[in-house]
Amino acid sequence: MESVKVFEDAAATLEEKCSNLILSNKDIKRVSTILLKEIEIGLCKETNKIADIKCYPTYVRNLPNGKEKGKFLALDLGGTNFRVLLIQLGEATPEKEFASREFPLPDLIRNSSGEVLFDHIAECLALFVKEFKVDKEILPLGFTFSFPCRQEGLTKAKLVQWTKGFTCSGVVGHDVADLLQKAIHKRDDVNIKIMAVLNDTTGTLMSSAYKQPDCKIGLIIGTGTNACYVEKVENMELWDGESDNSNQCIVNTEWGAFGDSGSLEFIRTNFDRALDSTTPNCGKQLYEKMISGKYLGEIVRRVLVYLAKEGLIFNNSSYVRLLEADTFKTKLLSEIEEKPENDLSDCKRILEELGITNFSQEDCAKVRYVCQLVSKRAAFMVAAGVATLINKINEKHTVVAVDGTLYRKHPHFRHLMAQKIKQLIRPGLTFELMLSEDGSGRGAALVAAVADRMDREETN
Ligand code: BGC
Ligand code: MG
Repeated sequence: MESVKVFEDAAATLEEKCSNLILSNKDIKRVSTILLKEIEIGLCKETNKIADIKCYPTYVRNLPNGKEKGKFLALDLGGTNFRVLLIQLGEATPEKEFASREFPLPDLIRNSSGEVLFDHIAECLALFVKEFKVDKEILPLGFTFSFPCRQEGLTKAKLVQWTKGFTCSGVVGHDVADLLQKAIHKRDDVNIKIMAVLNDTTGTLMSSAYKQPDCKIGLIIGTGTNACYVEKVENMELWDGESDNSNQCIVNTEWGAFGDSGSLEFIRTNFDRALDSTTPNCGKQLYEKMISGKYLGEIVRRVLVYLAKEGLIFNNSSYVRLLEADTFKTKLLSEIEEKPENDLSDCKRILEELGITNFSQEDCAKVRYVCQLVSKRAAFMVAAGVATLINKINEKHTVVAVDGTLYRKHPHFRHLMAQKIKQLIRPGLTFELMLSEDGSGRGAALVAAVADRMDREETN
């Protein structure tokens, strides 16, 4: 009996030590209220300068009308890998993807210079079009570049700052379409024309809106997080593009930067602060750092190391590897949380793979508990964001197009998120989360196709 009691006390202390990772409904509502205010600060011309959530206009407006024809490329850059897609659109054929390839992006390139980065991408593009034997054709390309950009038109996007661990020099402040086009021109083996630059959220929204007109929000929960939504032009004071009959535009919120001026300090923990201090964009993207795949594993690792040092877990173990940054990948949260509560076999295997020795069944249960806390907090933070946008759009039914590895792979994220959104939206409103598999890439090709058609219409 005595020993059981000891464990119960230890577990209670462990829960207490982790309690600041638990958000109350009051906290989540507060996040939503502040987020709405900050979006409004971003939308307003006078206050945009000081806004954390920049609400960039996107210049993506027209949906495909079925008259798009030909082959189109898309390039999707902004996560761990980058992808190239080739899509063919034709008269009777619906949208049809016929080739896609993922290329790894080594850390060395991610942290080099813009020249190295864009030369590498151009080289992969060349390999791709040769492999699929379209290198002799002129190919319009839609470029999904998933970082905060100030756009001055569909083909002009200046990088404001890198996120998600990228640090290539010579790119911030420059037009990324221009940098890529120059890298392509340097080669004489391909003929590719950049027709549009867009954010992954916008691509995701566009590729779903194509099939689902109620789709008003594009959401990414992957390496990073962000959302875009359809706003009335009259609310978007920064809009300087042409107006059309829809009087709507897509706003790229860049909500990852929420909290950068201190508005999330009431819920950030020492784990969040310690993690932030080791990132190249320290002090930035604080909301993102509580939510996305680049960071969740590292938060869990930090919590576990803290608990171990407090003598609350791994008391008889050696856990040297765990002391190293980034050894606990976010995909482990998905694997550990996948099996039913009483099945700790995956957790056991993972701890073994991490080189942790002599751990107990209780240790496994505690690791799982910490993973659950961190995932749940992330899901609730996103839910606060999505609910804010649904309430702001205020239409009877809103479809949210979602993509991103964390959302796709985590066994409970979408459920936790949906449940919380339901509690937070105005009574009478309904919503639907729609998975948009590879939407960001396909969306870019569609946007390029529309731009290409409009160009043709103009010259005819
Ligand atoms: C970037 C966004 C992007 C998001 C998801 C963030 O770090 O700033 O532009 O949409 O990640 O990829
Ligand atoms: Mg992506």
